[in-house]
Amino acid sequence: AKKAGPGTVCFFEVSDDRVSRDRKALQADLEGAIAREELFLVFQPFLDLGANRITGFEALLRWQHPQRGLVPPSEFIGIAEETGLIHEIGEWVVRRACATLSDWPDDIRVAVNFSAAQFHNTGILQTIVQALADAKVSPSRLEIEITESMLLSKYGSAGPILNALLELGVTVALDDFGTGFSSLTYLRKLPFSRIKIDQSFIRDMLVQPDCAAIVKSVISLARDLNIDVVAEGVETADQLEYLRQISCDEVQGYLISRPVAADAVLKLLDTKKLR
Ligand code: C2E
Ligand code: CA
Ligand code: CA
Ligand code: CA
Repeated sequence: AKKAGPGTVCFFEVSDDRVSRDRKALQADLEGAIAREELFLVFQPFLDLGANRITGFEALLRWQHPQRGLVPPSEFIGIAEETGLIHEIGEWVVRRACATLSDWPDDIRVAVNFSAAQFHNTGILQTIVQALADAKVSPSRLEIEITESMLLSKYGSAGPILNALLELGVTVALDDFGTGFSSLTYLRKLPFSRIKIDQSFIRDMLVQPDCAAIVKSVISLARDLNIDVVAEGVETADQLEYLRQISCDEVQGYLISRPVAADAVLKLLDTKKLR
């Protein structure tokens, strides 16, 4: 940035400054958020289209800030990654998710999002094993969601940890599929149980024929590779109907349910009569 001379008003530098101050404030607040019990999880269901039942829930992190209100993960996960707080937060998330899972029926799974940075710490393996043991839930009911970009940059450190988890029976899903580069090569790196097609494809598939073609071919490729497909961000009945027609395995999105609080999960399983 240019140095501001006397009498010069530089709005950009002023606002940049404010942004970084704000970020620092948020960062300082995040440090104590776990201890102050400001973090919580919400859960969004997966609907299996073949069986017409809910098969599990994705755990999504929320931060109830005392002054700012609800802060979305897009605004604090990045800060957590940069500061290393992601290790403590990620550990809290997996322990909380497993503890919550222990109250659910045995045939329901929980999916937890992981950042690449979390795999820099080899302690993550022990944390997950311990969380499962403490909650007394079978490892096969836990799914780990990772993104392609993570495999691209950090496969070196994540590979051995993911393989150890797979050996325990934990499953791995490839999240935001289609948004990274040369997606298909990553399918050979790990025995993924699931691919989650990014919501941008689902949003556009009924208006852009190219998009529909991509969704269809991902589903058919996945079928050949014996991998299940989840369509993310399903918002309309037309999208759901189309996904049914092209034999998508599972769907997730506001049409089925918004993410709900932990204590609403059992009610959702009952009232929706989807099991
Ligand atoms: P994601 O893993 O791709 O999660 C899906 C996001 O889409 C969630 O946003 C969800 O609330 C939203 N969503 C679900 N259905 C619909 C729909 O029908 N339409 C639209 N427009 N959106 C829908 P959320 O909860 O704000 O999370 C954003 C991202 O933050 C997640 O994207 C994930 O990458 C990250 N994240 C969330 N929780 C965690 C966590 O515990 N750990 C880590 N490392 N990342 C997390
Ligand atoms: Ca996810
Ligand atoms: Ca996603
Ligand atoms: Ca199925």
